[in-house]
Amino acid sequence: MKALRFHAARDLRLEEIDDPAEPGPDQVVIRNRFCGICGTDLHEYTYGPIFIPKEIQNASGGGVPQVLGHEFGGVVTKVGRDVRHVKPGDRVAVMPHIMPRSGDYYADRAMFQMSENLSIAGLSWIGGGMAEAALLNGYNVEKMPDDLSDEDAALVEPTAVAVRAVDKSGLRAGDSVLITGAGPIGLLTLFAARAAGAAQLFISDVNDTRLAIARRLMPEAITLNPRTDDVAARVRAATEGGVGCDVAIECVGNGAALNACVDAVRKRGVVVQLGIHPGEAAVDWFTVTFKDMEIRGSWCYDTFDWPRVMRLIASGRIPAGRIVTRTVPLSSAVAEGFDALLDPAGSHLKILIDLTA
Ligand code: NAD
Ligand code: ZN
Repeated sequence: MKALRFHAARDLRLEEIDDPAEPGPDQVVIRNRFCGICGTDLHEYTYGPIFIPKEIQNASGGGVPQVLGHEFGGVVTKVGRDVRHVKPGDRVAVMPHIMPRSGDYYADRAMFQMSENLSIAGLSWIGGGMAEAALLNGYNVEKMPDDLSDEDAALVEPTAVAVRAVDKSGLRAGDSVLITGAGPIGLLTLFAARAAGAAQLFISDVNDTRLAIARRLMPEAITLNPRTDDVAARVRAATEGGVGCDVAIECVGNGAALNACVDAVRKRGVVVQLGIHPGEAAVDWFTVTFKDMEIRGSWCYDTFDWPRVMRLIASGRIPAGRIVTRTVPLSSAVAEGFDALLDPAGSHLKILIDLTA
């Protein structure tokens, strides 16, 4: 089969590799349809291997060279003898966590995604979605509702990240919300916050092109650029009583954005840190204490939440497909996908690789 494999930084190769092995008792093989390119894939491409294990190479396509891609879906072609929840022909979205089911503190307590040994298909022992087919564990595939498109199946994973951050915020219907960062994750979080009932939405970015996209996707959201706006002051001025927003969700991963969130929420408000900080960041702790507020982390998603996230997309409450700016065949995924996303003058958000082309 054809596969896009990571060999080293800036060295992704379109190659002919062996088809997946026959599935073991708990495994499935799927024919992949669409796969999204995520910021983590861009990091691997530019600086990797980071998460990709360097030392191994196995029949599941894991290790170096590695089939990338953890945002994908497809059609089941083979199932192992113990797999009951899907059958050949079923359209599925992939939940890419590779989780030990026991043997460490978290796994033994059913907090599988917190396991120290968690890894992710496409970045680990198991190859991912940027190939014509994939061998996965049965629990990695969830049958899709008929009204979810194949393209949307590739957006379930990043949408699940956004939904979890909103869940963690404790947002209530009618709340006011600030999202920092209008990248793919920030925009999906904006949709997820509205779906959860947020009545007043603010989104900030330093990039005006991205703010223009945010306005197009959600005209009712107020867009703010920290280069020209005092984000917290604008949020306070627009919220009831001038006190600030109920919830802020940080989708950038830097100190400036985190402190804008701390500054913008009202007393007893909640900040969720979803963006990943590459290093340390100083926080205005006086304000955190004085406001009697909370800062909560949000890591990945609830592993067993795929049906709910798929319903949110299929029902149109989270129109995830609207963040897709281009779809490319596997044969041109490096130049028109990875390199296009890295172009500093580019305006792409989410690029999908079409494995049916
Ligand atoms: P992205 O880089 O495409 O988007 C980030 C946006 O933030 C950019 O548009 C950038 O212009 C903007 N930005 C930079 N500085 C800013 C500032 N001070 N204020 C407002 N906006 C600013 O990234 P993405 O793919 O949307 O991902 C967002 C973050 O989420 C990343 O840190 C990523 O690693 C992280 N992430 C976390 C999880 C998780 O499980 N917690 C999962 C996926 C991604
Ligand atoms: Zn990702």
